[in-house]
Amino acid sequence: MALEEYTRKRRFSETPEPAPKVEKKSRHRFVVQKHRATRLHYDFRLEMEGVLKSWAVPKGPSLDPADKRLAMQVEDHPVSYFDFEGIIPEGNYGAGTVMVWDVGTWEPLSPVPVKGKFVPGTEAEASAMLKHGDLKIRLHGKKLKGDFALVRMRSRRPGSKGTEWLLIKKKGEYVVPGYDVEQYDGSAITGRSMREIAGDEGSAEWQSSRKASRGKVKAPWLEETLAKLESKKKPARGTIVQQETVSGTHARALKKKKKLS
Ligand code: MN
Repeated sequence: MALEEYTRKRRFSETPEPAPKVEKKSRHRFVVQKHRATRLHYDFRLEMEGVLKSWAVPKGPSLDPADKRLAMQVEDHPVSYFDFEGIIPEGNYGAGTVMVWDVGTWEPLSPVPVKGKFVPGTEAEASAMLKHGDLKIRLHGKKLKGDFALVRMRSRRPGSKGTEWLLIKKKGEYVVPGYDVEQYDGSAITGRSMREIAGDEGSAEWQSSRKASRGKVKAPWLEETLAKLESKKKPARGTIVQQETVSGTHARALKKKKKLS
């Protein structure tokens, strides 16, 4: 259910992005992916309810509480997307380079502060806050640390879908006044730059449509998780992709199926 839009937008026979799958357990990881698509933006994703709840942040996250970053809620992504770094080939949805800019874990915070301080909350509280449009979280990333709020804006625009949120750093620990996202560039898992990921260091352009590569992971606590994901994926990759494409009821996939059968 939750990944219908994700599936509808993609052709898994052409993109190296992971196939849709809703997980039974959520392990409270988060990822921020720097994505050079039509426009450069940062995708902020929280592992929650078996998927990655996702927001596109045009200016990127900030550790300065004075910055209220516009965050457009986009379709849920599968959990395995959290370490996706590579190239989405031209002609596909979101074509361009994707970097894992930051990765880590998050905790739900209680909606009610104790003596003016936020304290850890529950999974149920997080789901309720998300629904209500005021989600408070604590991030333990490599780059992003401390308390944040994701607040849905009440748009007065007629026909507004209610997808506009603000990502705001709370005051307290880990505040960096005048935070400049560009100063903290580079992949959190491979150390690569956008150019290196694109496979062309000498030019800002990329021509190849090579598969996404997962470089050597530097964080030991992530290595195990990634290894598991890889071992699950590899042996049956071809079959999985085929099945998912067909079940995605994409016209092209159906045509292919007809030809095959
Ligand atoms: Mn994106």
